[in-house]
Amino acid sequence: MIRQVRLPDGEPVPALGQGTWRMGERADRRAEETASIQEGVDLGLSLIDTAEMYGDGATEAFLGEALAGIRDKTFLVSKAYPQNASRGRLARACDASLKRLKTDRLDLYLLHWRGSVPLEETVEAMQALVSAGKIRHWGVSNFDVDDVDDLIAAGGAACATNQVLYNLSRRGVEFDLLPRMSERRMPPMAYSPIEQGRLVTSSALIEIGRRHGLAPLQVALAWVMRRSDVITIPKAGRRDHVRQNRAAVDVALTTDELATLDAAFPAPRNKSALEML
Ligand code: NAP
Repeated sequence: MIRQVRLPDGEPVPALGQGTWRMGERADRRAEETASIQEGVDLGLSLIDTAEMYGDGATEAFLGEALAGIRDKTFLVSKAYPQNASRGRLARACDASLKRLKTDRLDLYLLHWRGSVPLEETVEAMQALVSAGKIRHWGVSNFDVDDVDDLIAAGGAACATNQVLYNLSRRGVEFDLLPRMSERRMPPMAYSPIEQGRLVTSSALIEIGRRHGLAPLQVALAWVMRRSDVITIPKAGRRDHVRQNRAAVDVALTTDELATLDAAFPAPRNKSALEML
């Protein structure tokens, strides 16, 4: 079983899930992508992250088919565009996502990034969807510290997570955002945990990987999961990648290895604006 992380209300979710950005968009990849998602669920990577934005709905529709018969084994996450975060539009956006995903509820619904709709209104709209049984939890994405503070001030204490860019080459959030979220017992959901594959050339990751018999990106993923509060969602459209990612959960990096990675990818010393991809 995959190690679990608890949401603020105590519900456990797997520390490793599956991202889906750019999935379900190409006919020639669809069979392998379907097999990857399904094998991932079998391996315990049952938290699946998507968004109405991905493929303009095509990714949700792809998941609706890929998860036929296994939806109840998953913890399904989708995200709404900021322009849909108002009282009237959020309910419609949610209904459209549910229809494409062929399900009657989302386990977690996120505001994709902050827009111009007042946070009070979005919080109310999210809570209304919880009351209606359309979503089980709600949260946000790409919120920096000030945004999290504003959200709490807007009545958003029930926010389950903040999905943010976090990997070895994007450590800025360690300075103040992750500590603030810890105070609020809000687990971070790390997106692009292997920097979309670009970390593969790091000599530190290659060397540590060689010692463990692992590929460098598995070490990069294990590094993100060294924190017991982090949920992460690498996207893998190939079964061999899903298996490699599953194996990374069980990798324990030594203190020396963590120090080597700190030297290659220094922790932040100052505040920097939250990065997004
Ligand atoms: P990522 O997960 O860091 O990297 C995905 C890339 O890495 C794909 O090209 C994939 O290739 C490859 N890959 C995966 N596992 C691998 C392995 N074991 N060995 C070698 N290559 C591997 O990047 P991401 O897709 O940007 O981020 C993950 C998810 O986070 C997204 O899919 C999305 O769900 C979410 N996200 C959210 C936001 C937001 O604003 N909230 C922004 C970006 C991403 P294959 O597909 O060929 O396996």
